Amino acid sequence: MINLVADPLTGDWVSLADARQERPLTAPGQSTCPFCPGPSSEVGSPPFHVAVFPNRYPVFDGPGAAEVVVYSPRHHDDLGYLTPAHARLVWEVWRDRSQALAARPDVETVFVFENRGRRIGATIDHPHGQIYGYPYVPPRLAQEHRALHRACLLCELKPWALIIAESPHWQLAVPQAMRMPYQSVLVPRRHLDGLGALSREELANGAAMLQQAYRGYDHLMGFRASLAMGVHQAARGHLRLECLPIERGQMRQKYLAASELVMGAFVTDIPATVAANRLAAALRAASRPPACSRDLADLTDLTDLKEPES
Ligand SMILES: [Zn+2]
Ligand SMILES: [Zn+2]
Repeated sequence: MINLVADPLTGDWVSLADARQERPLTAPGQSTCPFCPGPSSEVGSPPFHVAVFPNRYPVFDGPGAAEVVVYSPRHHDDLGYLTPAHARLVWEVWRDRSQALAARPDVETVFVFENRGRRIGATIDHPHGQIYGYPYVPPRLAQEHRALHRACLLCELKPWALIIAESPHWQLAVPQAMRMPYQSVLVPRRHLDGLGALSREELANGAAMLQQAYRGYDHLMGFRASLAMGVHQAARGHLRLECLPIERGQMRQKYLAASELVMGAFVTDIPATVAANRLAAALRAASRPPACSRDLADLTDLTDLKEPES
């Protein structure tokens, strides 16, 4: 079966995954969650901290890989609110699976990511992420390879991004050319090409910074923010994690429409300086984590609330 189709106009690959139409959905409050431990669960009954397994509804039906990473057996353990040690464990799983998949001959690019929240299309509420092993180089990485072949722009963020938080090993910044409102990028200070190159301290520090970013977004929006988080790692590249929220705050969603979908030209209505100031303030306000992950219940998913006026 052909499951990769090339667009002759752009050279981009499109993956056909029609079996994904059958994948399960869970609604808020629904009792049967495929990622909560139990006899009928996809993770089974044995105790675990972080579970990884092949996606039953993979995007690649042939070469390539698709895995699911369930962050915790507890249904409301969002990545932003795990204990620091538990968040480190998630990063170690990302690192180990990235290295294992990168070693496979049918995998060209490993992509660790999370679609957080129903608004961005997560079909199961239980916090989890995914790992794709693309059998090709995705378009955005290919573009970046061409742009970065002389000098690494990520080794020096200041010319093109506004730094909003710093730690000994990482910087969190808002790109001047935001594609989505409040987009941010988490970049290690050292030029490392992937998660496998991180020292123990860098990994722990990065995990804490990403948690801080998630909590900052929740604080900024006033609810559990829906966002896409993805890890760029590629040979000779500079590791980074990108967060792209799909909400603009005040209960307003940013939709991708004609300019973005047809022309690939993103339009944002918040200046990067304003977004950076607001996000930096939210990060500071949210820097004290809730006492336990149960507090997350207070951060209602946006889907539980009324639809905003457009
Ligand atoms: Zn669950
Ligand atoms: Zn670099």
